[in-house]
Parts: sequence; structure tokens; C-alpha cells
Amino acid sequence: MHAADTIVAVATAPGAGGVGIVRVSGAQAGTIASTLLGRAPRARHAHYATLREADGALLDRGLLLWFPAPHSYTGEDVLELHAHGSPILLDLLLRRVCALGARPARAGEFSERAYLNGKLDLAQAEAIADLIAAGSEAAVRAAQRALAGVFSARVGELQALLTRARVHIEAALDFPDEEIELLADPALVSALAALRAQVASVLREAQQGVRLAQGMNVVLIGRPNTGKSSLLNALAGEDRAIVTAVPGTTRDVLRLELQFDGVRLELADTAGLREAGDAIEREGMRRAMAALASADLALLVSDAGHWIADLADARARAPATELLVVLNKIDLFGQPAVRIEDAASPLRIALSARSGAGIDLLRQELHQRAGGGADNAYSARVRHVLALQRAEVEIEAAHIEVQRAVARRGGLAELAAEALRRAQRALDELTGAHGNEDLLGAIFSSFCIGK
Ligand code: GDP
Ligand code: ZN
Repeated sequence: MHAADTIVAVATAPGAGGVGIVRVSGAQAGTIASTLLGRAPRARHAHYATLREADGALLDRGLLLWFPAPHSYTGEDVLELHAHGSPILLDLLLRRVCALGARPARAGEFSERAYLNGKLDLAQAEAIADLIAAGSEAAVRAAQRALAGVFSARVGELQALLTRARVHIEAALDFPDEEIELLADPALVSALAALRAQVASVLREAQQGVRLAQGMNVVLIGRPNTGKSSLLNALAGEDRAIVTAVPGTTRDVLRLELQFDGVRLELADTAGLREAGDAIEREGMRRAMAALASADLALLVSDAGHWIADLADARARAPATELLVVLNKIDLFGQPAVRIEDAASPLRIALSARSGAGIDLLRQELHQRAGGGADNAYSARVRHVLALQRAEVEIEAAHIEVQRAVARRGGLAELAAEALRRAQRALDELTGAHGNEDLLGAIFSSFCIGK
């Protein structure tokens, strides 16, 4: 469907620059190269070329590079023209190439062709977009690892385990008389156990990867006057939120981006969670709840005397959101800054937003949760997390059937087999869309032109 067209785009960023690159891919690329150079180009050789209009008028002098298929980014014949980085000049070059038989590329079309020609799988193609858009050093490194295939390899391991479990279950389908015995086979039980553990750990890694690629979203919640705005300022190291002693000052949600040691955090200071009075307060409260629902982590700002009640309240409002409790204002009680970990409650950090004691403990914790320090992390996307979650649910369903068989309380091979087939389809979406045009369109159209 694509092979007939030759596409062209400016591959360098919009605006003026020292050098600008026009990239051409497709069957006509060779003829276009020969016409512009005046002779056949050598493969992977930088020709110094005089680029001219059809009537012979000089366009520019620059480099012409020729990458014959299949050893190119797209896997097709590719031509690159490196000219001076004037947007007008690059546009003239682009029109010249179009007159020679190419058409302007759509957003993401080069990467889409690379995917269709088997040069990259989907997760790797997405890693290229993530690399280009990376907002922190850690995000760059994570995208490079995904591009190198680290994520794809993890999915490959999962698929291998899934196949192992499916082989057993499909065998049970073929021998209905021994269905229960085959389902209760220790080899299947252990294959499923390995599969469950693996899908859970890849899911955790992917969630971390989303945080690394997009930055972690942290929202500050707590009763009025607990010190949320003061804490935001202490983390930012400057006065960005208005801090006052009047309860309810922060009516809107204030957002702030922080970068430290290579990770990116977005912090949102809210009006606090409380029974709101007037209309403005109710609106502030509504926005606080919305910020909380979409957050990766909530910092519940409280103190040693109130945190248990505050935690119960926050859990009731947002049961699924990961929480960290900040016990603020230790300076008032002469207490030391500490990190308190126990099994029954979320992590608590006692600190003082006013004196700054313990702020470093909180920063370290945030850094680690944002994916900093994990030197094998790879970038991932929300769609990957959702597909992995679907796979996890299906694997659980298969596991339940097998457990029933082990307990001699029924257990249907047919149900287990169906669940694992659905899990397989969910995993397939990660690295290849299997002809799912909508998914491919959605992924590649979010790229920029020339990628
Ligand atoms: P918010 O309503 O939760 O945003 O609270 P603010 O940050 O506006 O702080 C409310 C009041 O508590 C202000 O008077 C702050 O100066 C004070 N405050 C905040 N943090 C601390 C702290 O660590 N120690 C002390 N002693 N006072 C604090
Ligand atoms: Zn505030």
C-alpha cells in the first residue's frame, strides 16, 4: 500500500540552523539522487554536490548521501540531502524533490515504513518518538534502552512463558477424559506461576518507564494549613506558591516542574481536601480531586498527631493512588527528621518545610520513585501499561481455572485456554499490531513530520 510512493520531508527541526536535512524514501529515491548529482551515487558515501533547480539555477552546495535498500532507516532506498539550514531553502529543495516524483511525507511515515519493513518493532518505533521528546537525561537513557530492544526483549520472555503454559492447556483440550489431571499437572502450575510473576514485574517496569518518559506526577494533598505550599516551595528551592497563614489560600491547582539528578517531576499544589464553603472553594476542591485521580503519587501533608485520620480520609477519596505521608512541622515539637517504614502504613517522612530539615530525605525518595537510579529502566507508554494490565487479568483468570483443577473443584481447560489466547493478543499489541490499522494510525500520527 505504501511501496509505490516515494516520500520526502525536512528531517531537521523547524527554524533556521547551521545544517538542514531533507530525507527521501522509496523507489524513486535512486532516480532523484542521480538527477541531482548528475551521475549514479555511491552507496553510503558522502558526495559533495551542487544542488540545482530544473532550469539549472543554483539552490545550494551540500552533501548527498545514498542508502540503498535494505540498509537504511526505513528499509527502502533512502536519500539524504544535507544543505544549509534555511527553512526557505529547505522548502525549495523539498519542492524540487517533489517535482522529481516524491510526495510530502505524513507525520511519522518514515518510522511507520521502518516498522512495516521489519526494521523496528512498535515498541522501538515509539521509543524513537520518546527519545526525541525526552524531557530529562534519565528519559533519554530510558528511551535509548527501549530503542535498543530492552523492552521488546522483556515482552519476548513473557511471550515464551505464555507459550509454554498454552502448550499444556491446549493438550488438556485434546484429551477431555484427562482434562482435570492435565490442568493440575505440576509443570503447568509452575509455568503459570512463572508467567504471573513475570507479567507483574514487566508491568512494574513499564509503569516506571511511563514515569521516566513523561515525568512523575506528584500531587500535594492534606487539610488546609498543614504546609503544602511551604513544602512545594522547599522542594523547588524558591517561592513559587503563595504561602500564608489563612486556610484555603491555594484555591487553584498550582503546577511546577522540577528536575533533579536527571529525573523530571511535576508537582501540583492543591487547595487541600476539605468540606468546601463557597463556590470558589468548591471549584478548588473539584480540581484537587481531579489532580489526585491522575497523579502517580500523592504526598499527604499532615503531622504526627493527625496523620492516621488524614490517611483514612485520603484513602477513602482516592483508594488507588499511591501515597506517601509527610509529617510536617517537626521544628515545632523538636523532633528529628526521619524516614519511617512499617508494613501496615505507607512510608512516612518527618520533616520541616520551614527549617528544611528532612527535605533531602523526601527528595531522595521522590527521585527513586521517579525512576532515578534504576540503570536498566526503559521508556514505556500508557498504552503498554494498559495492554500489560489486560494480559495480567487474563493470566489471573487462567490461573483460577488451574487452581480449581488442582483443588478438584472443576476447572475448565477451555476457559483457561481462551484467557491465555486473549493474554497473547494483548502482548502482541506491544511489539506488533498485527494489521490493526487504527492502532498503527494512532501511534504514528503522533510523531512529528520527517520522523
Ligand atoms: P497549606 O495551606 O497546606 O498550603 O499551608 P501553608 O504552606 O500555606 O502553611 C500554613 C502555615 O504553616 C504557614 O504559616 C506556614 O508558615 C506554616 N508552616 C508550614 N510549614 C511549616 C513548618 O515546617 N514548621 C512550622 N513551624 N510552620 C510551618
Ligand atoms: Zn497552600
